[in-house]
Amino acid sequence: MSTAIKKIGVIGAGQMGNGIAHVSALAGYEVFIHDLAEERVRKGLATIDGNLSRQVHSGRITEDDRKAALARVKPAFGVDDLGDCDLVIEAATEDEATKRKIFAGVCPALKPGAMLATNTSSISITRLASSTDRPERFIGIHFMNPVPVMQLVELIRGIATGDETFEASKAYVAALGRTATVSEDFPGFIVNRILLPMINEAIYVLYEGVGSVDAIDTAMKLGANHPMGPLQLADFIGLDTCLSIMQVLYEGLADSKYRPCPLLVKYVEAGWLGRKTNRGFYDYRGETPVPTR
Ligand code: NAD
Repeated sequence: MSTAIKKIGVIGAGQMGNGIAHVSALAGYEVFIHDLAEERVRKGLATIDGNLSRQVHSGRITEDDRKAALARVKPAFGVDDLGDCDLVIEAATEDEATKRKIFAGVCPALKPGAMLATNTSSISITRLASSTDRPERFIGIHFMNPVPVMQLVELIRGIATGDETFEASKAYVAALGRTATVSEDFPGFIVNRILLPMINEAIYVLYEGVGSVDAIDTAMKLGANHPMGPLQLADFIGLDTCLSIMQVLYEGLADSKYRPCPLLVKYVEAGWLGRKTNRGFYDYRGETPVPTR
């Protein structure tokens, strides 16, 4: 455990927030998890419990590890419950207005030396930092999905991020047993700047009728040795998150090659957001996923 950081706050108890809480608690940090409503916090805690149990069954951790980690994660029903945290990581919906509102609400509750981080996939760290009272203690700590499994964490400094914040973040990532890479603060950073245009192109291939869902995913799994097909991966990430990232790339880099595919927009408008809503490019309501096109 890094000496500077002992208590971690996580805002957003969705798939990323509960993953960040999970790996932090396993590494020995005390974690406080917050979401919009009490029931979402409880759902996040239940997911952490389920995922820890899965790790016990696969032999990756012991039952004692699971119990100790669970005991370290506490619900934070209000932002005031985050007041004692050394580092608060925002992992709420990928929407700039939402994140700004969260920072405006949480900053007055934080102790003066607390660090604030965002898990945003694409939004400017410098711009988000400027909406807080502590740009020098603000940084991008970008985990990959699913957090308990993925090895990489991208660190992104905003223009004002101080060396102390950067070093403490590096120590935190190392204490989690993860590997950090550093990216400059440009739309999508490194991973999503490369990954999302590929996913968007796969959706164009579907939209233009070049191939079916099954043909596209099989092609990339067996033809490019990807562990998941791009449409399966899009469902996994969440189609709303994919669309938001493409919009940030399109607007932030002002290049038409990043325009989101209209079919992606249509799926999001339908509320077919992928695995989290049980329907996206696949329908997950039955025993096995069935392509929706
Ligand atoms: P999600 O939809 O699973 O969860 C988002 C959570 O944020 C929800 O529980 C929602 O209730 C909560 N929330 C919304 N407004 C809030 C508010 N005002 N206060 C507190 N909580 C609020 O989304 P996710 O996939 O967990 O993504 C969260 C963040 O992580 C986004 O910024 C996303 O870009 C980033 N991210 C996602 C992935 C991925 O593959 N899904 C990977 C890396 C980073």
